[in-house]
Amino acid sequence: GQCALWCPTASIKERDDIQSVLRVLDDSNMHVIIQTAPATRVSLGEEFGLPPGSIVEGQQVAALKKLGFDSVFDTNFSADITILEEAAELLNRLEQSNILPQFTSCCPGWVKFCEYYYPDLLSHLSSVKSPQQILGALAKTYYSERVGIAPENIVSVAVMPCTAKKFECQRPEMNSAGRIIGNPRIRDVDFILTTRELASLMKLRKIDLNGLDNEAYDQLMGESSGAGVIFGATGGVMEAAVRSLYFLVSKQRPPEQLLELNAVRGLDGVKEAEVIIPGKGSLKVAVCHGLKNARMILEKVRAGNSPWSFIEFMGCAGGCIGGGGQPRTSLASADEVRRARMASLYNLDGRVYRKRASFENQKVQNLYKEYLGHPGSELAETLLHTHYIDRAKDLTIRKK
Ligand code: SF4
Repeated sequence: GQCALWCPTASIKERDDIQSVLRVLDDSNMHVIIQTAPATRVSLGEEFGLPPGSIVEGQQVAALKKLGFDSVFDTNFSADITILEEAAELLNRLEQSNILPQFTSCCPGWVKFCEYYYPDLLSHLSSVKSPQQILGALAKTYYSERVGIAPENIVSVAVMPCTAKKFECQRPEMNSAGRIIGNPRIRDVDFILTTRELASLMKLRKIDLNGLDNEAYDQLMGESSGAGVIFGATGGVMEAAVRSLYFLVSKQRPPEQLLELNAVRGLDGVKEAEVIIPGKGSLKVAVCHGLKNARMILEKVRAGNSPWSFIEFMGCAGGCIGGGGQPRTSLASADEVRRARMASLYNLDGRVYRKRASFENQKVQNLYKEYLGHPGSELAETLLHTHYIDRAKDLTIRKK
């Protein structure tokens, strides 16, 4: 992963949260929930001797239950929400001829890079929160109400492939549940465990992944579509968004060629595609990963030469499957490992998860119907959207 490169203040250091998580798990007054990112289910196995790309989704859930987490949720669930909101935002920008291209905003390494070096382009960033932060906000509101446990007594943990996620959950504005209940000190997400830290925690508690049978996620926020799981690979967010945009506009399921958007898959630094959306004509989209590629694309946008309507940015090579918190145990080359993990995510999308698009997620539909109202409602704005900060002046101060 390149997270450290993306953080000029070097504030993104791996912070060992294992002890903090052990403390809350041992505290009987606290109800501890955990969410798992798309990418960790295809890498955690490497810490337990399995080949790169082994799918250990159900065993990871079993391990977390064994560790004592009260509920285990899937970040894929909130990735489906991120996509629905982001597709709605894009449609809005297209119809209002508003600021285009829209930039994805789910990678905190990329967001911070944009805040430092391209603050003039912050209005292009989607206002939608990352899946991690959406699930955290819902854990201390929606879930809290459903189980009848006060947000003060809920601890929200996330297993992430990423060290930058530790910075993201500490951003001052990521306390939406706390703001609603008038206790702004409450964080939406309290602790992050990287994939490697989760493996260490399991080893500390003598839990071997290989000896575990599959278990299922807790239902309220456990269902996900294939669109949610491919978030973990570069190009996945774009593909997921195109599926939902197509549905939003046409009310039809996307055709097969949009469900397998091969032009945005793989490890090329910059990938482009042109997609036909009924009534909207042809949209040009781009996907990039890594700092150098991002700069190249951003300079074009800055100069007004961007042909694109929507651009996906990821900090790490390969996207989150190549994140800075992922296992480093394999003897295979970094790209071989990335390819194996990516292939497994696309297998889950095409072969295992029956629903391919975020709008098909029944539990997400229930959430909107029973709790949020509709996309864009006041509650949806508070829990699912955020804002960004011009950090350019911090760079000037540091240079002095
Ligand atoms: Fe974290 Fe993924 Fe961004 Fe890497 S690409 S910094 S793992 S969110």
